[in-house]
Amino acid sequence: MFLKSDLIRSIRIRFIAWYALILTVTFLLFSTVLYVYLQKSLSSYLDFILESKAEGVAASINTYWETEKMVAVHSKGISRKTLSKINNKNFLKIANRWVEERSNDPDLVSVIIQIYKPNGEIVAYSKSAPIVNLPGEAIDKLKKGQDFYGNERIEISEKTFQDFRFVSIPVKEGKSVAYIVQVASPLTFIYTTLNRVKLILFVTLPLTVIIASILAGMFLASITLKPLNKMIGTVRQITGANLDTRVDIPENMDEIRELAETFNDMLERINRSFAVQKQFMQDVSHELKTPLTVIRGEMEVALKRERSINEYRDILESSLDEIKKINRILESLLALARFDSDAVSLHKESTDVTEMIKEILNDIEILALQKNIEITIISEASDNIVNIDRERMRRVFYNIFDNAIKYSSEKGKIEVDVERVDSEILINISDSGPGISEEDIPYIFDRFYRADKARCSEGFGLGLSIAKSIVKAHNGNIEVRSVPGSGATFTISLPASL
Ligand code: ADP
Repeated sequence: MFLKSDLIRSIRIRFIAWYALILTVTFLLFSTVLYVYLQKSLSSYLDFILESKAEGVAASINTYWETEKMVAVHSKGISRKTLSKINNKNFLKIANRWVEERSNDPDLVSVIIQIYKPNGEIVAYSKSAPIVNLPGEAIDKLKKGQDFYGNERIEISEKTFQDFRFVSIPVKEGKSVAYIVQVASPLTFIYTTLNRVKLILFVTLPLTVIIASILAGMFLASITLKPLNKMIGTVRQITGANLDTRVDIPENMDEIRELAETFNDMLERINRSFAVQKQFMQDVSHELKTPLTVIRGEMEVALKRERSINEYRDILESSLDEIKKINRILESLLALARFDSDAVSLHKESTDVTEMIKEILNDIEILALQKNIEITIISEASDNIVNIDRERMRRVFYNIFDNAIKYSSEKGKIEVDVERVDSEILINISDSGPGISEEDIPYIFDRFYRADKARCSEGFGLGLSIAKSIVKAHNGNIEVRSVPGSGATFTISLPASL
């Protein structure tokens, strides 16, 4: 058996599992976006720093050059215009001197500076040896006046490699490139930062997922499932004896409230059908008890002393009547039970409903004549062919005509009207009897229901319920309208077969 705690636990586990999955996916997405963004930001920040340092270096070398040029102009009388940096040995010396003197400045000590001629030949370098050469594609780009960025893995000591970021910028004189400044920085800082972030995310992801899922599982699932727990408790206590118990409706307008309402509706229906069953049992017992009591009484009286043959015959005949009555009740109940369990197979045949009604009227004419009741067919539809189980539908009409005669007074009138409305054939049977009161109408088709038991001693109140079952099995309908005192009209609708 599936225990309550197992149920709750499994819902909670599913809840936690889904929550953890969603959280992991979200967190992974968030971490990836964060990581990629950080990597890009750090790289472009480093490029920006290296570029501005390279520009600073170029500006400073230019200042050195300008100062030297002034000295040369004044002391040697050389024309200012004839002095160009391009392929000028003096400029190369000045560039070398700049690197020697300035590359250890505090803001340059962390970077590597290298100066190249426009053709890529190295001129000056801040380390003991040049660490890279400019590749051909870099020279092409720089000659066009564009900056060149690149990464390089460099052996800094024996078998120790380090990644560097290089930024090379062309320094122009007029329209031509005079020289190239290259500034490089190790990527260690970026790698360390990114690794740290990766580690933080790696550790926090499972931790966050585990903690959040457990908390969600404990609290959210408890809050959500609390009313369910309560409901299970109530439902467990419901037995056949306290079917009027109802589960508490939670205040929240959610699925659990809907479940509680649905459950209460179901209890209501079960309760009602239990009551109907109970009533039915009582009615059956009552109906069977009466004839049995009569038989028993008659037999007891008969046995009290010796009786004549005629007296015995009377007693036997009277008992036989009662036994027939019991038989009729049992047959009716059996018929109803068959319809209830859908164990009835209908033998349908195409039938002219008016013809069939005429046949029935022929059979019961004698009953009507006994009470001077006039039966007329006031109108007949032309397309009144229906596909029915004749035997069973005959029983329906017979029952309704029988009631109409039974409950009408002497010289009453019964009218039959057959009409076609769309795809249905409607058969209206009206009588001029006492009619049925408004309170009785809803119950008239219930089993053993008899509006006025004293009105007529015959009948058990089963005829109309059987009629309704038969008509329903034909996908039809049966209704009654009545103005008490002015008769009743029963309407049977059946699907037309043409
Ligand atoms: P019964 O065997 O009592 O006639 P039915 O199921 O045929 O059982 O009818 C149920 C009750 O409906 C009857 O007891 C009667 O009170 C009422 N009833 C049925 N037909 C008519 C009618 N034509 N006029 C007045 N009352 C009717």
